[in-house]
Amino acid sequence: MSKIAIVGTGYVGLTAGACFAHLGHQVICYDIDKEKIDKLSNGQIPIVEKDLETLVKEGLEENKLSFTSIPEEAVSECEVIFLCVPTPQRSDGTTDISMVDSAVSSIAQILPENSILVNKSTVPVGSAQKVIEGLNRPDIEVVSNPEFLREGTAVDDFLKPERIIIGSENPDAAQIVAELYEKIEAPLLITDPISAETIKYTANAFLVTKLSFINSIAAVCEGVGADITDVLKGIGSDSRIGEKYMSPGPGWGGSCFPKDTKSLIHMAGQAGYNFRFLDTAVAVNEEQFDRVVQKIRTAVGGELEGKIVTVWGLTFKAGTDDLRDSPSLAVIKRLHEEGATVTAHDPTVGQHKEGIPEQVTISKEPLEACENANAVVLLTDWKEYETIGPDDVMDRLADLNLIDTRNVFNPKEWEDKGFTYQGIGR
Ligand code: NAD
Repeated sequence: MSKIAIVGTGYVGLTAGACFAHLGHQVICYDIDKEKIDKLSNGQIPIVEKDLETLVKEGLEENKLSFTSIPEEAVSECEVIFLCVPTPQRSDGTTDISMVDSAVSSIAQILPENSILVNKSTVPVGSAQKVIEGLNRPDIEVVSNPEFLREGTAVDDFLKPERIIIGSENPDAAQIVAELYEKIEAPLLITDPISAETIKYTANAFLVTKLSFINSIAAVCEGVGADITDVLKGIGSDSRIGEKYMSPGPGWGGSCFPKDTKSLIHMAGQAGYNFRFLDTAVAVNEEQFDRVVQKIRTAVGGELEGKIVTVWGLTFKAGTDDLRDSPSLAVIKRLHEEGATVTAHDPTVGQHKEGIPEQVTISKEPLEACENANAVVLLTDWKEYETIGPDDVMDRLADLNLIDTRNVFNPKEWEDKGFTYQGIGR
């Protein structure tokens, strides 16, 4: 079993740290956020992520997992050090790797001799080489090991991945990193760092393309009177197409898809290729937010000014408290621009937090959020909403309008009670 340090204890770093400890390794997680580290040291989890708390507590109890805000404590005795710091988007669409640079410079001189620095952050292609230059430590191998976990199922995805990708110019370093995962049964691909970095962007670009494609087909379904649910069943049974990741929705978002897509478009441009196809996937997604607002506008009579809209769901998907680039917030922004008032509920949002506009009224209960509203819009597919029926809300609403952007409700049940129902592609 190996001694591992994690640098950056967020969604990816905390999951990786807790899972590596669960696999038997000795793990120490480091973060510059001291408050977060203090909480974690007491077994308090700063994010919503299924099964993570159990694993963190298990790691702490078995002395396999510890937390620190002092870099020396984290890395000085470790064989493998994982970088899991944020790589957000700059306003021009390029990736800001300043946090990778600053993490590297904070540990460069204290990394043990011959240790391995593994990049798990999603970084522009060619970054491994830049890290090597920034480190200026010829004794240290830099390996790329992109992460594919999804928030909401992060622990499961980490422990049962569909593949493990390791990019290294040094077969011995690649082998040492591969061995950290030896208890996990998954196809392993060892490649060069540039290909490993490209795999991560390609995967996300393909997934967003699928989603934009399906949302376009949903728009066609609405136009011609077809039902997207049956259309998806009909094409999903074709093994060349498959059923996964084919649900229409309010548009894609989250902490990775938008920034990684823009980053790939930019990288392609730098490399001399105009990635028009991906430009279109992004444009179709922006259009999807507009289409959702159009549905709400139509429902309330063509004018949003002065109307009250209830929003169910603020996070970018169910199972996480992550609000970064959430489609729900993109829709809310448009509603505000047109003069609507928004009352919102989300199971993970008890009060205002960063990213939610001040004007939004936060309700603690989904039904309470419906008081006097002219329309209800379901934007995140939390299980909590699925069991709500028309009888639960109709007396609270000013007008009976439901916009179901995740197609979770039975249209007939709502229409029979006098609601106008609009889904996506049905
Ligand atoms: P996050 O914001 O949740 O966590 C990052 C952590 O790094 C924070 O706790 C922050 O305080 C810490 N940090 C910042 N600078 C630091 C430094 N110099 N030293 C130590 N700690 C520092 O980010 P995340 O969602 O975990 O994403 C991390 C990386 O993983 C990104 O590159 C992202 O694109 C990639 N990724 C994310 C996901 C996901 O679903 N969130 C999935 C795959 C890959």
